[in-house]
Amino acid sequence: MNSNAVIAIHGGAGTILRASMSASAEADYHAALHAVLSAGQRVLADGGSALDAVSEAVRLLEDCPLFNAGRGAVYTAAGTHELDAAIMDGSTLDAGAVCCVTRVRNPILAARRVLERSEHVLFTGEGAEAFAAAQGLEFVEPEYFHTEARHRQWQLARAQQRAMLDHDGATLAAAPSSTDDDPTPHEPIDPNRKFGTVGAVALDQHGHVAAATSTGGVTNKQVGRVGDTPLIGAGCYADDATCAVSTTGSGEMFMRMVAAYDVAAQMAYRNVSLEEAAHDVVMNRLPKIDGRGGLVAVDARGNVTLPFNTEGMYRGFARIGETPVTAIYR
Ligand code: ASP
Repeated sequence: MNSNAVIAIHGGAGTILRASMSASAEADYHAALHAVLSAGQRVLADGGSALDAVSEAVRLLEDCPLFNAGRGAVYTAAGTHELDAAIMDGSTLDAGAVCCVTRVRNPILAARRVLERSEHVLFTGEGAEAFAAAQGLEFVEPEYFHTEARHRQWQLARAQQRAMLDHDGATLAAAPSSTDDDPTPHEPIDPNRKFGTVGAVALDQHGHVAAATSTGGVTNKQVGRVGDTPLIGAGCYADDATCAVSTTGSGEMFMRMVAAYDVAAQMAYRNVSLEEAAHDVVMNRLPKIDGRGGLVAVDARGNVTLPFNTEGMYRGFARIGETPVTAIYR
């Protein structure tokens, strides 16, 4: 048994506005990250697989309206939600993903079913939903994904006729603090520059790694736009021989850099450490094409790294029997 079992998660990266941050908002984020890490930690402590730990962590992050995935996802240019998710098992290199789903409550569970029960890897739109329905997954009305803050942010993006990365700082700063109707509180990261995708990576006690990533994409994105998140190798990758990686950031650049796989490839072909490989991708290679964001990664020895090239990233990690560590700022 591997005693280095560990789970790491992220909930988006961006620029920090300490001035506009309330202590209670910051506490909300730490509490949410802590709860998700504890749940993943329990799976690992009980001898569960890394695959189970990352799907459970991402499912919980999707259900939490603080993050841009599942409930609380951003709006498309048409005022709808289109969700993407992917999951990969490092012990088999099996993978599953869905993109542009609109009514599946937990896209990560649909991705998991694709991994386990389909000969294919990636399903899109109607086909993905038909597959999810046949698998008996829970469906919700589109309003389920609505939050007032994301809706205001979409209206602002629409007025400016641009696509916007996750939240808009000005609208959220002007928003009332969280209520039952609007559970999204003021955010400690400048939402103009925040990427709210969620993700998890884990190493289990059996020595296997897995990765999972889920997102609503970018605000006011064109209908049908797909980012890095559901693309194996770009937003998600896992291989016991190297590492497991989940990314968040400007998706188009992460796709062009094949960012998640590049971390694994550098370990395999350049024989560098997890830390060195991840650092090179996030701090050297992505910035060359203006790629902003970060990633979380673990290797089969239990090394963990959480680099980002923005001013902050919601993140944390937890080892069995230890208190979870959560952080937002650099
Ligand atoms: N990478 C995501 C996308 O481009 C956005 C994010 O990380 O928030 O869809």
